[in-house]
Amino acid sequence: MSQTKYAVIGGIALVVVFGFIFFSTNNVGSITSNTVIDVPKQPIHWHPILEIIIDGKNIEIPENIGIGSVHDPVHTHDNTGTIHMEFERPTAKQMVLGYFFKVWGKKFSKECIFDYCTDKGTLRMTVNGRDNNDFEGYPMKDGDQIVIEYQSLS
Ligand SMILES: [Zn+2]
Ligand SMILES: [Zn+2]
Repeated sequence: MSQTKYAVIGGIALVVVFGFIFFSTNNVGSITSNTVIDVPKQPIHWHPILEIIIDGKNIEIPENIGIGSVHDPVHTHDNTGTIHMEFERPTAKQMVLGYFFKVWGKKFSKECIFDYCTDKGTLRMTVNGRDNNDFEGYPMKDGDQIVIEYQSLS
């Protein structure tokens, strides 16, 4: 085989490997939602707002979550808690709150926020002032005010 052929085959192999890594890191397999997710068919640019309170203290949600070599459709631009959902083609998996935490690289489920878990405290989530039990499976909507609150047992 000629060198050119090797180079072509090598190039294809690289594309396949990186494509696989890209798609597997974007796969949120285990997140399930209690709510039927209404996935918009058109591009969206939505801004839900997230607040995390642990033992009465607000936790900073940093800027540029999801912005790196791969620009994730779900990301932050500042530290105000505004989540940007900028999709050409939204998918159900990427519209749930748990996906944002996956992009951030932090733990969130009905059992734990970060390393704070319900064996040592209470975890509550509200959306627009109402209790919500979807936790990581909550499909975010434009303008949502999402509050996750953890209180340690004293
Ligand atoms: Zn935005
Ligand atoms: Zn953006």
